[in-house]
Amino acid sequence: MILQIGRNMCDFSHFEQGALVAVLTTQPLDRLLDYKAPAGGCHQGAFVEVPLGPRKVLGVVWGKGQGGFDLAKARSVIRVLDIAPMREEMQEFLGRVGDYTLTPLTAMLRLATRAPGLMDPQSMQRVFTLGHGEPDRMTAARQRVIAVLEDHGGFRFTLAELAELAGVSGSVIHGLVRQGVVLEEETPRDLPYPDLDPSLPGKALSEDQAAAAEAILEGVRSRLYGTWLLKGVTGSGKTEVYLEAVAECLKQRRQALVLLPEIALTSEFLTRVQARFGARPAEWHSGVTMTERRRCWRMVAEGGAGLVVGARSALYLPFRELGLIVVDEEHDQSYKQEEGVHYNARDMAVLRASINGAQVVLASATPSLESWANAKAGKYRRLDLAERFGVAEMPAIGTIDLRVDALPRGRWISEPLVAEVRARLALGEQSLLFLNRRGYAPLTVCRACGHQIGCDHCDARMVEHRFQGRLMCHQCGDTRPMPEKCPSCGAKGKLAPIGPGVERLAEEAEALFPDARIAILSSDLAQSARAMKARIEEIASGKADLIIGTQLVAKGHNFPHLTLVGVIDADLGLQGGDLRAAERTFQLMRQVAGRAGRRERPGVALLQTHQPDHPVIRAIISGDDEGFWAAEAAERQLAGVPPYGRMAGIVLSSPDAKAAFDLGNAMARNTAPLTRIGASVFGPAPAPIARIRGRHRVRLLVKAAKGAPLQAALAAWVAGFKPPANLRLTIDIDPQSFY
Ligand code: ADP
Ligand code: ZN
Repeated sequence: MILQIGRNMCDFSHFEQGALVAVLTTQPLDRLLDYKAPAGGCHQGAFVEVPLGPRKVLGVVWGKGQGGFDLAKARSVIRVLDIAPMREEMQEFLGRVGDYTLTPLTAMLRLATRAPGLMDPQSMQRVFTLGHGEPDRMTAARQRVIAVLEDHGGFRFTLAELAELAGVSGSVIHGLVRQGVVLEEETPRDLPYPDLDPSLPGKALSEDQAAAAEAILEGVRSRLYGTWLLKGVTGSGKTEVYLEAVAECLKQRRQALVLLPEIALTSEFLTRVQARFGARPAEWHSGVTMTERRRCWRMVAEGGAGLVVGARSALYLPFRELGLIVVDEEHDQSYKQEEGVHYNARDMAVLRASINGAQVVLASATPSLESWANAKAGKYRRLDLAERFGVAEMPAIGTIDLRVDALPRGRWISEPLVAEVRARLALGEQSLLFLNRRGYAPLTVCRACGHQIGCDHCDARMVEHRFQGRLMCHQCGDTRPMPEKCPSCGAKGKLAPIGPGVERLAEEAEALFPDARIAILSSDLAQSARAMKARIEEIASGKADLIIGTQLVAKGHNFPHLTLVGVIDADLGLQGGDLRAAERTFQLMRQVAGRAGRRERPGVALLQTHQPDHPVIRAIISGDDEGFWAAEAAERQLAGVPPYGRMAGIVLSSPDAKAAFDLGNAMARNTAPLTRIGASVFGPAPAPIARIRGRHRVRLLVKAAKGAPLQAALAAWVAGFKPPANLRLTIDIDPQSFY
């Protein structure tokens, strides 16, 4: 369960050979292990290899050993690894995130060392460049090799790369090496990233943009901690502004990190960085190869990477000198990790910066209520970009009242929306139909017996994915072929899809607009991150007339030809009693609407809804952001919920439902440590998704006042129970979703 390891915050010290040092490993243990320093001694923070039972494992010298046992029995550190030592700020950061999220330090170290081969020696590779020799005779193949090397002046290729680019075999290259035409050398495999040039000029900024950039630049120059909330509508130039801050940070020879919520967005961003600084930054996300991951990790540690663009886990990279963290689309839910270590990258970015004396820029058109409130309270400084850059204007947002324009059965695109799409097609402009549901239909029922097809392992319906001809559970990922007969009554040909997913919507659109080029953008329809990037680029370049997309399209990508956004079901997110339902719907609708009209041609967004008078729908239409935030804040304040109160979600999961409930009940009866801080416990209750992957799930919710020491109380509380084997207890501080 919860492990507590005392942190040893002594000075960054050196330990002589034989001195006892405390080593943190990535092994699931509840404590630091004492070892003797190796020959030559070691420093605090050194990455080391230590023996553990019969194995050799990776560790970090965390501080002075605790001792208290027979020293003759202490084993020695095997060797200090050839990796830049962990900096003291990083030790502190990992400790504080661990304390905040109630995560054992060993798990934090795993998070911070997610790169392959850290224990291996730096491997070398053979690379090829242009030499000064003359070939004895020239052939077409030889000429191609020389041309490739000349075109990429000074660039070092591996044999495979050069052979492929020149379209020759390796022996042609080796022949040229023998004559000194091509040079072959050994270099470390992990090379520094090309230098970004911060002195290249950026775009000439508008007055608003310049004022915002100047403020942040002052912060970066101060080398002190500070957080900015950069609020600006989509297209107002937030990226241009924070790239100025990146430039300033690079000029100081400090490192910058830009977090993006979606890897599909990185390609557009990389192109912008290249245009701005003359080279591409380092990348860190799930689409990056293992070799590149290792290079990135090592180069970040050694200072061979000035700018990293990455997903939330890039926050745990071993920066040598971090000066700036940008969290773009800071309201995005994907910053909250809800598996393993439950942390919110936005909040942890602020923590990391405060330890490092770095600046944070939280950028969004629709900030989270948390950040809005922090700005209001003066903890963050707020900068506003009120207008879109240049001639582009914010789209006009309106509703289509589905009570008036009722939809026939099996149809989801209303007449007024059809007319709008047709008008765009006639003008050669792009339209987007937004529906936040993957697959063909969210539910399949048997018309003979009424059976609804569910997942065998989860309390969830199977979603039909017609392109793949399969049913899929969106909880556990289990799939099976679409059955012909009802699995319950055996009736043939009676299974019917209920409700729309993007695939079904595309079918309707194909029938309505037979001549339009229709593209579906949904995370499950691309083979890989790379394929997804390519697809998005294609669509952005105008190779589609009508885009049918899930929330993937809402996330900051530029579609310059898009002038109409139709939201198929604006009411979807308002159902269900989630604390953040209103906030999320507001953000999502505004983000989606913001996709329209990024160039000269103005955009329109139309929301299909059954409740045009709902306060959230009205707020979306009115454009009165401040009014919406203020009303939402007042409600949360009244209810004492985040950001005006603290919360923790506890999930007990087990193959045995009774065991989970028994423990839940016992926990609810014995709440002394929580009562002491004035916290209250709700539940146990079956989780909204009561079973996932065969495990039954029971939830408890803990609420406390804002200043209450919640983590310590939670730790003391759960320490009082011993969960049976096979029961998993997870604690989620500041839960974002309640599934
Ligand atoms: P945001 O990040 O707020 O969505 P961007 O920085 O992506 O906005 O800007 C939107 C578009 O306007 C981009 O194509 C960008 O290059 C352009 N743009 C923004 N500011 C300027 C400027 N000062 N000069 C020229 N183009 C700009
Ligand atoms: Zn399932």
